[in-house]
Amino acid sequence: MNEFVIPVWNMPAVPVVGRDQTFPVRHIYCVGRNYAAHAREMGRDPLREAPFFFTKAADMIVPDGGEIPYPPRTADMHHEVELVVAIGEGGRDIATDRARDKIYGYAIGIDLTRRDLQGVAKEMGRPWDTGKQFANAAPIGAIHPVNQVGHLESGAITFAVNGARRQAGDLSDMIWSIEEIIAELSTLYELMPGDLIFTGTPAGVGALVRGDVGVGRIEGLGDLRIEIVGGF
Ligand code: MN
Repeated sequence: MNEFVIPVWNMPAVPVVGRDQTFPVRHIYCVGRNYAAHAREMGRDPLREAPFFFTKAADMIVPDGGEIPYPPRTADMHHEVELVVAIGEGGRDIATDRARDKIYGYAIGIDLTRRDLQGVAKEMGRPWDTGKQFANAAPIGAIHPVNQVGHLESGAITFAVNGARRQAGDLSDMIWSIEEIIAELSTLYELMPGDLIFTGTPAGVGALVRGDVGVGRIEGLGDLRIEIVGGF
């Protein structure tokens, strides 16, 4: 007998490089304005405002090579390429010098954003949810386990659309380091195995339209490719 009153959906999960098993996704946390040049392009002063957090739902992930239907109620969907940290071991109030122990691996992600809806939310002092949370808003490539790639501290992070470079930065440009992000986030939430953290985007964000092919790249992690298709 089924123990639920409606049919149960599949656990969202991400492939793991070199393994048959997948990484199950519990929560998705995102860091806002964690690269100074991006904070400035959004009209903010990174010296006066610390980075901050928002969330996406776990079932918004899209695998490498995914076709993404253009989302509804927007005319300005933006790409934000980001390093994603996959948490393998949970905890609260994690010290920065223990933060690395909690990391299972790393992946490339794209924080897709309905920039026009986010802009209205900012202007009205409303939550960002409609700008940041929508179907397919969290493409993520395969997770590279720490035991294969080590820990990432620096390396180029880029995004190209139809072969033309749009975003470029270096992981070492992050305002909050990965360890600081984990420490800070774990004072707000108990981190859980399966949590993903999108760690912010470098400068050069811009719009994607139907037919665009976007490729994110992080040194040591390969590529993540998405294609924007018909949709609403
Ligand atoms: Mn972002």
